[in-house]
Amino acid sequence: PGVQHLAPYQPGKPIEELQREFGLARVVKLASNENPLGPSPAALAALKAALQADPAELGRYPDGNGYVLKEAIRARFGWAHERILLGNGSNDVLELVARAFLGEGDDAIYAQHAFAVYPLAVQATGARGIEVPARNHGHDLPAMAAAVTPATKVIFLANPNNPTGTWFERADFEAFMAAVPANVVVVLDEAYCEFVDDAQALSGFDVLDRYPNLIVSRTLAKAYGLASLRVGYAVAGADLIGILNRVRQPFNVNSLALAAAAAAVADDDFVARSRALNAAGRRQWLDGLAALGLRAIPSRGNFLCVDMGQPAGPLFQALLREGVIVRPVANYGLPDHLRISIGLAEENDFALAALARVLAAAG
Ligand code: PMP
Repeated sequence: PGVQHLAPYQPGKPIEELQREFGLARVVKLASNENPLGPSPAALAALKAALQADPAELGRYPDGNGYVLKEAIRARFGWAHERILLGNGSNDVLELVARAFLGEGDDAIYAQHAFAVYPLAVQATGARGIEVPARNHGHDLPAMAAAVTPATKVIFLANPNNPTGTWFERADFEAFMAAVPANVVVVLDEAYCEFVDDAQALSGFDVLDRYPNLIVSRTLAKAYGLASLRVGYAVAGADLIGILNRVRQPFNVNSLALAAAAAAVADDDFVARSRALNAAGRRQWLDGLAALGLRAIPSRGNFLCVDMGQPAGPLFQALLREGVIVRPVANYGLPDHLRISIGLAEENDFALAALARVLAAAG
């Protein structure tokens, strides 16, 4: 019954499909918050080395404990292996949390306009999802804490949030954690945290040891540029991680992904380059949007949620015909917004020029 009413997750339209559909020479995809640089050279080299070292390895199952990647995470961030859960993307982590802690009769809380996988993962277990109205498009943490009932087992927070790019401050998070009962599992989803350029910003890794009920989730899909390889991970207390590992598929991360991710986690320079490129691209977009009379919700992610001032569906379609793929977010309760991922400078230029034409045609 929990599954019957679910609307499937809508991924960004693939480039090849659009090229064929409209016979377009050039298509720019700014629809899935990917890293326009792709993977770091170190990750690519590790991937090639893993393939070339012994192709027969591909005939074997990967290391089900993901030793090389856990070791890389330990070396970079200091977490013991027993405190790390590896996932097939961080979506896998989110689903494992739902599967481990939720069932019929339970509640899980998330914010309005929060990442679409939370309601999907929650409702698939038969639990009830409680969506707490957003405040200025972001999480209303006091209202979320106040929504806790004896049935509440899990709360999902995204910082920064997708698709809005909104964030919350460390002090507000700490007040929230103080208000939430210790038997409620809190997932702090930090899929975009590497793009945040602020030393004062909340980092889940800095506060993790103070909260035994906190799970911090991260991904290699965004700043690390490995979206296609599907690697994410969670860090929490060893007991919580032990529970999640009981419901995890034994070989959920493949050997090529493990090798590439281990190299990526160690490549701070690449993450810094990605962050800088994103900051410059964000300024380029904000200037370009302002020139078109448009505004975006303030964002700390690698994307902007832009208020088009009119129903965004037809503009999304018109942009497709121009060879620009962005993301409509009506399914997030934002029918007048488009979410635009920040690309390379020339991709941003191409998309801004297309947007100007589309808006002019729309009057
Ligand atoms: N959390 C958030 C907030 C996201 O936006 C995404 C990707 N869209 C994910 C988690 C999942 O990413 P992945 O499974 O690729 O790690």
